[in-house]
Amino acid sequence: MTGECNNVKKVFLRLSLCVIVAVCFGAMLGGCGDRRDNGNLLDGEHLVPPLDDVTPTLTVSAEPTKEPTLDPTKGPTAEPTKKPTKEPTKEPTKEPTKEPTKEPTKEPTKEPTKEPTKEPTKEPTSTPIVAPATPTATPTTPTPTPGDNGQSGSGKLIVIDAGHQRKGNSEKEPDGPGSTTMKAKCSSGTTGHFTGLPEYELNLIVSKKLQTILLERGYRVIMVRDTHDVDLSNSERAEIANKAGADAFIRVHANANDNSDVNGAETLCQTKNNPYNADLYRLSRKLSECVLDELCEECGCKKRHVVETDTMSGINWCKVPVTIVEMGFMTNEKEDRLMATDEYQDKIAKGIADGIDAYFAAQP
Ligand SMILES: [Zn+2]
Repeated sequence: MTGECNNVKKVFLRLSLCVIVAVCFGAMLGGCGDRRDNGNLLDGEHLVPPLDDVTPTLTVSAEPTKEPTLDPTKGPTAEPTKKPTKEPTKEPTKEPTKEPTKEPTKEPTKEPTKEPTKEPTKEPTSTPIVAPATPTATPTTPTPTPGDNGQSGSGKLIVIDAGHQRKGNSEKEPDGPGSTTMKAKCSSGTTGHFTGLPEYELNLIVSKKLQTILLERGYRVIMVRDTHDVDLSNSERAEIANKAGADAFIRVHANANDNSDVNGAETLCQTKNNPYNADLYRLSRKLSECVLDELCEECGCKKRHVVETDTMSGINWCKVPVTIVEMGFMTNEKEDRLMATDEYQDKIAKGIADGIDAYFAAQP
């Protein structure tokens, strides 16, 4: 019986052990199952937020439970090898490879390619457009001029003095170097008797048109003034041309006369006996003739004459060839109204430019 009893005891012990094991095993399976289901559902349906919420609880509970319980002997050898190899390899490889490759490739490629291409293309295209404008215009304008071939200016320096200014200066200055004769520094000029256009305005309008044409023809141009609000005496204007070493000094004016019938253009230069610059008489006379001829031909106005006088401060102070252009009479209704039009102003400017071309073409 003892044997039987022993057998019965053994069987009972085994059964009780089995029951205990079964109960424990069932409890473990049930708990894990719930977690798995929850985990799977959460993983599948909610990608990011539930994972973050769940993983801390899962990892904390799963890893300590799995590792110590399942593999007490294997664990220390298996896990340390897995963890160090997995984590260090994953994190370093992911982060360094992603960030360095993405950021350096994106930023350097985008910025260098965009900026260099934009800026060089904009600036070169904008500047060439401006530059060709002058060369392309030059062949057309000089063609009617006799004796020139393309760039008639060829770098010659023209100083243009738009006569007068908004506010005259009645202070006196010698009318020539060392002269005892004193004249007003600068007057405000005459006014269109029918248009009311101030002479100083008309002079600057035509002077600017002349500047444009001369630049197109290859001349270099210096403007004595490009605004009405200056205070420049006639001797100071001549000095600007002298200091610049002008090849020609063109002074643009309009005329006035008590007789409103008087009309037509004329030019002025010094006499061959001028006490200050008689040596420039020949060139100034030639310049005056050429400009008067071409101006009257272009405008169809009456050609009066070249006036030789030594009473003009702006001529007497000159050390370069000079002419004063009196475009027409602002006291004559027809000319006053004509000179106020853009078309006639263009003709005057072109006529003067043609005269300058002709003057240089005639030089030996
Ligand atoms: Zn004047």
